[in-house]
Amino acid sequence: MIVVGLGGMGSATLFHLARRGLRTLGLERYDMVHEYGSSHGLTRIIRLAYWEHPTYVSLLRRSYELWRELESLSDEKLLYITGSIDAGPEGGSVFQGALRSSELHGLEHEVTDGAELHRRFPGYRLPGELRCLYQPDGGFLLPERCNVAHLARALAHGAEARFREPVLEWGATNGHAWVRTSRGRYEAGRLVICAGPWAAKLVPELDSLAVAERQVLAWLQPARPEYFQVGAFPVFNLEVEEGRYYGFPSFLVPGFKFGKYHHRGEQVDPDAMNREPEPEDEELLRSFARRYFPDGAGPTLMLKTCLFTNSPDRHFILDLHPDHPEVAIAAGFSGHGYKFCSVIGEIMADLAQGGQTRHDIEFFRLRRFAVSRESRVASHE
Ligand SMILES: Cc1cc2nc3c(=O)[nH]c(=O)nc-3n(C[C@H](O)[C@H](O)[C@H](O)COP(=O)(O)OP(=O)(O)OC[C@H]3O[C@@H](n4cnc5c(N)ncnc54)[C@H](O)[C@@H]3O)c2cc1C
Repeated sequence: MIVVGLGGMGSATLFHLARRGLRTLGLERYDMVHEYGSSHGLTRIIRLAYWEHPTYVSLLRRSYELWRELESLSDEKLLYITGSIDAGPEGGSVFQGALRSSELHGLEHEVTDGAELHRRFPGYRLPGELRCLYQPDGGFLLPERCNVAHLARALAHGAEARFREPVLEWGATNGHAWVRTSRGRYEAGRLVICAGPWAAKLVPELDSLAVAERQVLAWLQPARPEYFQVGAFPVFNLEVEEGRYYGFPSFLVPGFKFGKYHHRGEQVDPDAMNREPEPEDEELLRSFARRYFPDGAGPTLMLKTCLFTNSPDRHFILDLHPDHPEVAIAAGFSGHGYKFCSVIGEIMADLAQGGQTRHDIEFFRLRRFAVSRESRVASHE
């Protein structure tokens, strides 16, 4: 088995394949820990009241289970539980979606408003009438440490991993796959492509289905640090008139961390993007903090760029390649994939090993785009 890309999804896939006793090679163009892709920045939200769609909830349950297992295998704390807030207008997609997932899946949750939220968690200063759903299982993961933990466990199970070795091309026919890298050529029975923002460069069929988008994250020094500590500040997803935002308590860096989904809507080539945060990026984020988290809106401590890889419907792409069943693809995580790495590693290992998985991934198949393209054509006739 060959896994291309050892970021969030690829490191988890390498681990699941290796622990099944399969001979596995992982190839990564950068270092074991790097800041060019999608899985850096110290923390990633994990939450169960999934507003995006209730179908994610069963995958999330398995994801939590596998993260906890990885913690115990690597004897390291990787997952912190803070509770999560999904807030927005009564009829908005974040609040309504979180409520629907909670009700459908019987999740423990409380519904409150902006005023009550401030009394309970004083760092939050949301408009009083905003509807807020609190779910106690939300929290955050440490993505760099999680990737290293998956890789370390994979190596311990005998996987090989080669870093600083980009895959330049690949092919597959009749149950065999090969890749050519900057250093050589490798062959295997199956190939798994987890190339994050570079997915469409390796799989041209993903062109326009997995589109890289520049993001910027901020860490600001709170005037009231006690309001933004773990224990006093749940992670959040927030829908307000300026757009959709997410945020975290201070952790590892003494700053309130947050970002705006689809930041400035900049589609980019990951090999040519501006990786330096600009004053406009900073002001966009600071103005949000001043309005909704004024006690967290002190001096800027850190800004970082990162990449989303958006699919047209913002749902994941998990499937076999349409023309090469020897190749499994994980792509298009659209800014919300990290929390699922552990279960997606298991799914990709299933697809590589036997072409199918016990997890229900119909919602994530590539053919949904073909269908919608066909129906668009039909509706124009
Ligand atoms: C700012 C920001 C905030 C986010 N917040 C959250 C959050 O709070 N919660 C959440 O669940 N998700 C969040 N996400 C989304 C999540 O981080 C991503 O969905 C996830 O990291 C995607 O993982 P990946 O493995 O697809 O990509 P990556 O981790 O980028 O891995 C892809 C890897 O493939 C390698 N690669 C590419 N091409 C080649 C090649 N030709 N040869 C060899 N190697 C190659 C790359 O170098 C890279 O290491 C956020 C994303 C960003 C950018």
